Amino acid sequence: MSLHELTIAQARELLDKKEISSKELTSSVFDQIERVEDKVDAFLTISKDEAEEQADAADKRIAAGDISPLTGIPLAIKDVICTKGVRTTCASKILENFIPPYDANVMEKLNAQGAVMVGKSNMDEFAMGASTEFSGFKPTKNPWDLSRIPGGSSGGSAAAVAADMCIGSIGSDTGGSVRQPASHCGVVGMKPTYGRVSRYGLVAFASSLDQIGPFGKSVEDVAVLMNAISGFDERDSTSIKEDVPDFTKSLSEGMKGMKIGLPREYFEAAGLDEEVKQLVNVAIDKLVEMGAEKVEISLPQTEYVVSVYYIIAPCEASSNLARYDGVRYGKRADDAESMIDMFRKSRSRGFGDEVQRRIIIGTYSLSSGYYDAYYGKASQVRTLIIEDFKDAFEKCDVMVSPVAPEPASLIGEMSGDPLKMYTADIFTVSANLAGIPGMSVPCGFTKSGLPVGLQIMGKHFNEEALIKTAYNYEKAAGINGKKPVL
Ligand code: GLN
Repeated sequence: MSLHELTIAQARELLDKKEISSKELTSSVFDQIERVEDKVDAFLTISKDEAEEQADAADKRIAAGDISPLTGIPLAIKDVICTKGVRTTCASKILENFIPPYDANVMEKLNAQGAVMVGKSNMDEFAMGASTEFSGFKPTKNPWDLSRIPGGSSGGSAAAVAADMCIGSIGSDTGGSVRQPASHCGVVGMKPTYGRVSRYGLVAFASSLDQIGPFGKSVEDVAVLMNAISGFDERDSTSIKEDVPDFTKSLSEGMKGMKIGLPREYFEAAGLDEEVKQLVNVAIDKLVEMGAEKVEISLPQTEYVVSVYYIIAPCEASSNLARYDGVRYGKRADDAESMIDMFRKSRSRGFGDEVQRRIIIGTYSLSSGYYDAYYGKASQVRTLIIEDFKDAFEKCDVMVSPVAPEPASLIGEMSGDPLKMYTADIFTVSANLAGIPGMSVPCGFTKSGLPVGLQIMGKHFNEEALIKTAYNYEKAAGINGKKPVL
């Protein structure tokens, strides 16, 4: 096995035993990037020089016995997370040359552990999308089938892990952007509880929904990354003062006494692919074999979740993106005749079509005369969605379901039909609307070889139950280790 194929846990062991150095591990990762990045296009910026320096520093720390779980581990970071001195574009032309003067909270935490950043990964512009086709620069390809999307918006982070161009990665999830690409790329991904991970330095899309989350090659790796990035931060006003457990303690065997809820509406949803449904059902049977108890539950508001999300998210986005006016960040039109003309030209040229569409939907929904009918109504239904989950979690510990109705689509298949793309978010957006944690763990492949994920959702701040369920499933299914041929 080549070094870049290692999981975090495997690399940790070899690093600690001094059988390999971070320098060797990092250089193996860069060899792989050199070999396959042209095919996959997972990165917007590759920071090789900085990574080599970080690897050297990590090796010194390891030699001195100053070791944290991520010391010397090469990671990819979604380009929506501010990295001091390293270009952060959000895959938008409007931020093409933006170099943050500060690190996001998660970067401070990863740097304190001595992690190595290999680069900034591709995404849909400002995290708006589900395929990474809406990147302002280039689409990322799915390592399992280069004619297909990797999912999105954190498609670069998921593809980079699947293609072994990093050992683990960080993404963000506003309506499914960690879970859905994890599912499409056959890796593990987690969206933590809202408030668990600081949003300080995460470029805002929809602030009441955004949450940073990790990708890994195994459930254990995701637990290690969760340990690293979680915790209260006073610079994020919605960060919550809640104790952070050691998530690796949840990697324990046995599902006895665990009640797993199956939301009826999800399994009956129109458009749910038969093969996806079957793979998820087989996974559920496995959990039952291990001692879990199956409970049917209902989430009656499911038919409204996509509509509610696609009002609330664009409303918040239209407000958050008002700051890109050509004055404060990034690109400015230099042929403007007046201030207003400068705003208009900078924004029209800097933002792509999907971002402009959302700004228009959001501005419209928030405007006087329409606010009550759209944003106000959507907020009321959001409360009902939260109540759905409260009621359902009286009957179960976790919920399991598909992540997405279909496996990864062909590039170009959905990008021209935004409504169709939005509809495919039906199983993921509700966790963000309710603020609960969600996870995707690989649960097999379709006949044509495309990965499919199992979604596990849980109660607020009970990521441990998700990790435990995913870990048990992963162990029993034994589907780890299969690699895309690139
Ligand atoms: N697909 C959803 C959207 O387009 C979710 C995006 C996300 O989670 N960042 O908004």
